[in-house]
Amino acid sequence: SQDVQLPSNFAVLTGQNQPTPRAVINNYQGCANISQSGNFGNPVFQLNLNGERVSQRGTGTVEILSPNRLEVIEVIEEAGVARTGPSTNYSRLTPLPKGTRAAVTGKEGDWLRLDYGAWIRQKETKLIAGATPRKSIIRSITSRQVPGATEILFPLEIPVPVSVQQSDKTFTLTLHNLTAQTDTIFLNDGPVIKRLDWYQVTPDRVEYNFRLKSEQQWGYDLRYEGTTLILSLRHPPNLSSRGRLGVSTQQLAGIKILLDPGHGGAETGASGPNGYPEKDVNLIVSKLLQKELVQRGATVYMTRETDKDVSLRDRMDMIHELEPTIALSIHYNALPDYGDAINTAGIGMFWYHTQAHDLSVFLHNYLVQKLRRPSYGVFWNNLALTRPHKAPSVLLELGFMINPVEFEWISNPQEQRQLANAIADGITEWLATVE
Ligand SMILES: [Zn+2]
Repeated sequence: SQDVQLPSNFAVLTGQNQPTPRAVINNYQGCANISQSGNFGNPVFQLNLNGERVSQRGTGTVEILSPNRLEVIEVIEEAGVARTGPSTNYSRLTPLPKGTRAAVTGKEGDWLRLDYGAWIRQKETKLIAGATPRKSIIRSITSRQVPGATEILFPLEIPVPVSVQQSDKTFTLTLHNLTAQTDTIFLNDGPVIKRLDWYQVTPDRVEYNFRLKSEQQWGYDLRYEGTTLILSLRHPPNLSSRGRLGVSTQQLAGIKILLDPGHGGAETGASGPNGYPEKDVNLIVSKLLQKELVQRGATVYMTRETDKDVSLRDRMDMIHELEPTIALSIHYNALPDYGDAINTAGIGMFWYHTQAHDLSVFLHNYLVQKLRRPSYGVFWNNLALTRPHKAPSVLLELGFMINPVEFEWISNPQEQRQLANAIADGITEWLATVE
């Protein structure tokens, strides 16, 4: 095959994301077989070229793990970051709930490969001394209604790795290292789940397929209590007061909305042509939107109300703890590398979990049409403020700071009020369509 390389993910923003021939060969790959287990120290690499031999000692050591003595780790973070490979370049998989246990089948640097295939940073785990790798069985499964959510309880022998897939009207939970001896499942009718189907898809993997009552999903959570896995599926928001009151000004009564004005403090974000910082306009528009939403009866939470530093972690934690109906992160865009400041403009919408897709598309189309703004587009994007899963979470990029024409619109107080009004109307209409 041809030796090509892929550009960074950002290249898609300028349409230059095709593979390109590798200009300089700087990476030689080979394969060696070692049939014994043990620590083999630092490998020596030899390169023969034109009768000359160069050798170099590697900086890392090579260890072959014994399949009979695999270590067992436990996840110590609230949500351990599982990835498709041993670096942060690799995509994220479903986070592992605290307490999850798995065997380590490989190591690279400070990354561990777990028995079900995912990689995790060693520092997010602790070694369980003397533990032997185990699979779990599962027997009965039960469920209960708690305020705002349906909980499904999976009693296990050990906390096994999990993965989640959302789709239209389905929520699929896969439990790894698990073999079913299930004869009984208790699941009454409730607001979210229509039916649960399950399958033992391989001898050590079980898939739980929740058929849902509506297309829109309102958030989920997974946690271990001891060795029992608890899946929580949030109920739809209660919009009944609107029906009772008929045409009401309080159309968003009972709705909780979290607004996250991007950046703040030392984090200034993108800059306008005159150096005007994105963090300021994010806050202005978020406060105007807060006012509009409160007028419509919503409860609004703000991640910041002044110009101060708030970490991404703290913003995500607020969504997790406050459990809003929806979460919106308000931003204005910076030009991508090699972008064109004059011809790049428009409204962009970013989502990550399936449950945030419909709101993203709706708000994008709504703002583009109502405000006659250019469209930058809708993106699936792995971002700190699109990753929260307890509520549909969308990140809005409302325009490009550096585009001089768009910046006039961005910084105009009257346009800012119209924008806040249109976003609030859009949210209200969207909630009516998914009712
Ligand atoms: Zn920003």
